[in-house]
Amino acid sequence: MDFLAVTKQVTNIVNDTAIVDVHTHLYSEAFGDRLRWGIDELLASHCLAPELLRLRPDLDPKAFFALKKVERAERVWQEIFVSHTPLSEAARGVLTVLHELGVDTGEKDLNVIRRYFQDMSPADYIDKVFELANIRYVVMTNDPFDRAEQGVRKRDGHRDERFRASLRLDGLLGGYAENLAAVRAQGFAMSETLDEKTIQAGRDFLRTWIDLLRPEYLAVALPGDFRSDDGSVCARLLRLCALPVAQECRLPFALMIGKPRQADIAGEVDCPGAGIGEANVGVVVELAAEFTEVKFLVTMLSRRNQHELCVAARTFPNVLPFGCGRVMNFPCIIQEMTAERLEMLGLTYIPQYSDARILDQLIYTWSHSRHVIAAVLASKYFDIMKTGWKVTKEDIARDVQRLLAGGYLADFQGDA
Ligand code: ZN
Repeated sequence: MDFLAVTKQVTNIVNDTAIVDVHTHLYSEAFGDRLRWGIDELLASHCLAPELLRLRPDLDPKAFFALKKVERAERVWQEIFVSHTPLSEAARGVLTVLHELGVDTGEKDLNVIRRYFQDMSPADYIDKVFELANIRYVVMTNDPFDRAEQGVRKRDGHRDERFRASLRLDGLLGGYAENLAAVRAQGFAMSETLDEKTIQAGRDFLRTWIDLLRPEYLAVALPGDFRSDDGSVCARLLRLCALPVAQECRLPFALMIGKPRQADIAGEVDCPGAGIGEANVGVVVELAAEFTEVKFLVTMLSRRNQHELCVAARTFPNVLPFGCGRVMNFPCIIQEMTAERLEMLGLTYIPQYSDARILDQLIYTWSHSRHVIAAVLASKYFDIMKTGWKVTKEDIARDVQRLLAGGYLADFQGDA
């Protein structure tokens, strides 16, 4: 088979494989307006705002963000799509979404485009996006201190298997002082001093939420300079409460390392400063060595950490690198990271997650990522085929299943 034929075959298989998207900020319909979707959301998102503010330095960022969503969308459309050419990844993403939906952009008229979304119901749009993006399920980010989350769980209102849960612990671990009253209001006798009683109550708090959410994993975002042994409240809660409960419940623990110290905890706003500066990979090594029975899903936000993370994963089988974080979700970087991980870890990593905050972003993130991942895989298959090694269609489908459809994750979760 020549290189073009290999590429075509791999691309078809990658496109036909239903994705398990292991980290998003999406919500199912039961969460009401937490579910964000449609052209105005896409245009007004924090992905495009930086580009607009660079094109128009005369705009005051605060005043811009204070505008209504539709007005922000109109400014972005005019400036990035009409007055200039939409070549950036975020702008091209909008065009990919419209193209896949079959919306005509010929007139470059936002009001014409808006008509497509006008009569769409959230339920129909979820079906459409999951079908177009070919997604099996996405994992949400579920915060036990979020009122919307509590409301949905109280009503027992979440029943959509396409949206699975992850229990996000930033509020407990990173914002303990601020959230202590909320923990106590939920009936768990934690106190400011992390004594034995508080640790036990904290473990009970986690067990209760695990029962409620049935999460795929527990997760926390940590600053780049986090130390696991510095005696901070966050480090102690992580080691005394969260990781022992993850081990007991046989749930993987996701570490998302490299957020700036001052970032907002909910992660709704794009973190200024995320991914700038190297984080400490030593934390991954220390925790993986100390908690050998806990499976760590690890994503690091700085490009400068990626090689060292692969090296750590080669030493610790309980470390699984996953995805290309928000500031690296660009085809040129995905290409580099996917190739490096494939060369260093074989098929034992998860190439990508969407980090989508708006439902529509699933369409373009996965369309663009699939394209890059397929190209990287095809070149590697071609390399080994040149040695005379036979690679069948079934081999490729099995490998892609492992990388993109949750196959490796299931193994990783299962052999705890
Ligand atoms: Zn995220």
